Amino acid sequence: MTTTIIDVRSDTLTKPTQSMRLAMSEALVGDDVYGEDPTVNRLQDSIAELFGKESALFVPTGVMGNQLAIAVHTQRGDEIIVESESHIFHYETAAPAIIAGVQMYCIPSWKGEMPLDSIKEAIRPPVYYFPKTSLICIEQTHNRHGGTIVSLDYMQSLHALGQEFNLPIHCDGARIWNACAAANVEPHVFAQYADTLSVCLSKGLGAPIGSVLIGSKEHIEQARHWRKVLGGGMRQAGILAAAGLHAIEHHRSMLQEDHEKAALFASLITQDSQCIIANSSGNVESNIVIIDCGENVNPSDVQAMCEKKSLFLSMGRGRCLRTVFHRDISMDMIQTAADIFCSSYRILENART
Ligand SMILES: *Cc1c(COP(=O)(O)O)cnc(C)c1O
Repeated sequence: MTTTIIDVRSDTLTKPTQSMRLAMSEALVGDDVYGEDPTVNRLQDSIAELFGKESALFVPTGVMGNQLAIAVHTQRGDEIIVESESHIFHYETAAPAIIAGVQMYCIPSWKGEMPLDSIKEAIRPPVYYFPKTSLICIEQTHNRHGGTIVSLDYMQSLHALGQEFNLPIHCDGARIWNACAAANVEPHVFAQYADTLSVCLSKGLGAPIGSVLIGSKEHIEQARHWRKVLGGGMRQAGILAAAGLHAIEHHRSMLQEDHEKAALFASLITQDSQCIIANSSGNVESNIVIIDCGENVNPSDVQAMCEKKSLFLSMGRGRCLRTVFHRDISMDMIQTAADIFCSSYRILENART
């Protein structure tokens, strides 16, 4: 008997389906450094249109999308405002300091929505010994806060503040697709409040590789230059773009199911164990569930015990575990996952007392 592996460490673990592989193998391709790959062009055009912007650029990763945006919006020695728990601050190898040559000013927030007053205070006055503030970044959905959704109202006020201080807004929209599905908002509606957005195809959408940077014609032209600086000029990339197009067409409408799986898992484990949901808002807003194991149970022990029973979870901050639900996890697996989690948790809890 083979046990099914339930791997909820991340939504990046999704593997291309047979029909996605077929779409990839049949893709028309050309040399994208010459701008001649028809499939890359089709992906870029259709994503630009979905987000209501002039232009878009296919990039290998979300990190590259963010870093290109930062390079485009800033000058060396500037300062950018980011949220304290943001991906750009924690997981991008200090790249803003290396590539654009800027420093980050971090503002804490409750669930990704930095208080506007704190942003105003952080914006540097034009005095020669200060760095120049040149960009505000926002993350949608917010990863480390537990897939929380930055509201449309907040985006609108942030954008207004940006206009007041003449500061562009970049949205790290790695999981903006999830935000759109959960809030029932079209991509162009969120996007009207950001100057540039970086969106991932390789997470919940299920493409193997790829992100897209979206913005004005001018910003994207500059980003194309910076992509080449980083060695990111790709040739017959249409093979990969075809996966992205397929994902948008066939997988996007299914993202809400991942949110239902996350919510079901959260409700099952809180009914049956002493652990609590530690998503910043207290709710499961999209596909991420952060689990606080409490004082008496060591999260890495829970992780190890679950792993022996083929349930793979990742470590979160502090005493937390993190689970991310995705299209390769079926609704049927959720009860099994919750059973494995709760029985492991109970064994460890009893061992302590
Ligand atoms: C995954 C992710 C990215 C980009 O990651 P890559 O692995 O470079 O594609 C950026 N921001 C957030 C919030 C993410 O979760």
